[in-house]
Amino acid sequence: MSGDANEVCVHSEDVQNVSRWRKFTSSLPVLEEINKTAHWDYQRDRVYARNSDWRGRSNASRTAAVRPRINREVLCSTLSRCPQCGGKKLKAGPEQSKIVYDLHIGKTSVKRWIVKYLFHNYDCLRCGAELSPPERTWRRGKYGWNLIAFLIYEIVELCVPQRVTTRHVNRLFGLTLPRSSVGEQKRAAARLYEETRQTLLRRIVEGTLVHADETPIVTQGKRGYVWVFCNFDDVVYFYSESREAETMRTLLKGFKGVLVSDFYPAYDSMDCPQQKCLIHLMRDLNDDMLKNPYDDELRQIVQQFGDLLKQIVDTIDRRGLKKYFLNKHLRDVKRFYRWLFSGQWQSEVAAKCKQRFEKNREKLFTFLGYDGVPWNNNNAEHAMKAFAALRDVIEGTTTASGVEEYLVLLSVSETCRYKDLDVLEFFLSREKDIDAFLRSRARTRAQPGRSNEKPTQVRIVQTALEILAAHPAGMGFTSLVERLHGLLPNESENTIRIYTAKLRAWRPQEVYKPARGIFRLARFRETEATDVETNRTAT
Ligand SMILES: [Zn+2]
Repeated sequence: MSGDANEVCVHSEDVQNVSRWRKFTSSLPVLEEINKTAHWDYQRDRVYARNSDWRGRSNASRTAAVRPRINREVLCSTLSRCPQCGGKKLKAGPEQSKIVYDLHIGKTSVKRWIVKYLFHNYDCLRCGAELSPPERTWRRGKYGWNLIAFLIYEIVELCVPQRVTTRHVNRLFGLTLPRSSVGEQKRAAARLYEETRQTLLRRIVEGTLVHADETPIVTQGKRGYVWVFCNFDDVVYFYSESREAETMRTLLKGFKGVLVSDFYPAYDSMDCPQQKCLIHLMRDLNDDMLKNPYDDELRQIVQQFGDLLKQIVDTIDRRGLKKYFLNKHLRDVKRFYRWLFSGQWQSEVAAKCKQRFEKNREKLFTFLGYDGVPWNNNNAEHAMKAFAALRDVIEGTTTASGVEEYLVLLSVSETCRYKDLDVLEFFLSREKDIDAFLRSRARTRAQPGRSNEKPTQVRIVQTALEILAAHPAGMGFTSLVERLHGLLPNESENTIRIYTAKLRAWRPQEVYKPARGIFRLARFRETEATDVETNRTAT
């Protein structure tokens, strides 16, 4: 980049998505004047328009502003009693009207939906309360909630740029949203769902496992960081100006479980048991080997580590992340370290490699002593991918507070995805508590005849319920999967595993888990003792 005074200096290596057509500024006003006259709109309206042919064409292509048709007129109810004090003396104000621009979203359709409300406000002469009719559900501004939910869905879940969404919605539904409108709705929605994000964060902090990761983003020329914290059920994202550990320590204050992360040193300052991502370690070791193809000592170490990890991964494949089964590998880990320390490592890379194992000794195999702690950080990296897709669209043009708004909404949409919920449906529901929404969904799904479950899902769930009906004491995850696989040989074992894991979430009223990994029918909850006997004779 030249040092020309007319150039706006941005860190070009950081900012890739900034417009190539930056604002032209000059110390000579005349240059700015000239620049303006070259703008596309200006040329069309002021220059080409002087040619009569062009003007004719241009007028014809412009649609006349028609008054949009109102789909429904709602006459709001009149109040006869004050809902607060029960008083009957109410003073009605003048009749008012409100037009709400909204969408009607069906199962397979979307259409514009404009509703006109006619209503009176009232004053209670007894207690002085200002009252509105119960139909008054609209928000400030002219847009209805479905439209707002639709916009949020597009910009957050589908990563559509805001200006594209504006054009899209205006063209399809004949609306006239100004360009700034989507940003304003996003801001309002983020304020609304901040409570949801805080609930998710609280649940994560109270849990036994946190995956963490961080990544940079450039906001209008400044570099900031986005942090993600998640477990298997919930995901939250937060923006911070620095990559220091302080942000994480504040957000995760009080966390007592295991933190899974990569080797970035800031994570070490967290005061809790830690598990470093072994996939990261493996990739680093592999890179070292590629760079030092003839280093036999390094090769030996990596080989030993690989063999050790392979055995463990095999156990996890068979038994899941169960402390009970993983514990036995602690012996193998000890043996590996004994072997590593007894070796005389001559090569510099091998010695460095040994040092790394030594330094992280307490953080590489923590997961062997816990239930449900993964040995890699894929969970966080998966969540980070969702943000990366959004970053491609917003980087460089958005502000720091703009990013934070996106992150509130992304926390909601990504958590919905983790729980297999339809994101648009959740936004449309106006519900702020994702788990409450999940429970209400599960209720409607469990009703026969109204089911929208896929055939495979129905088959697996029904069969699982039948198996459990024959085992009143309940069944462990692995044996249930095995039994299902025997009865449904055409379904892949993987599908069966995934669906079985969700059995409780899908049928919360029929299935419960008396202990981790054990499934039992709810109707057997009462008569436990005798049922254990029944089960013993049955198997
Ligand atoms: Zn009153």
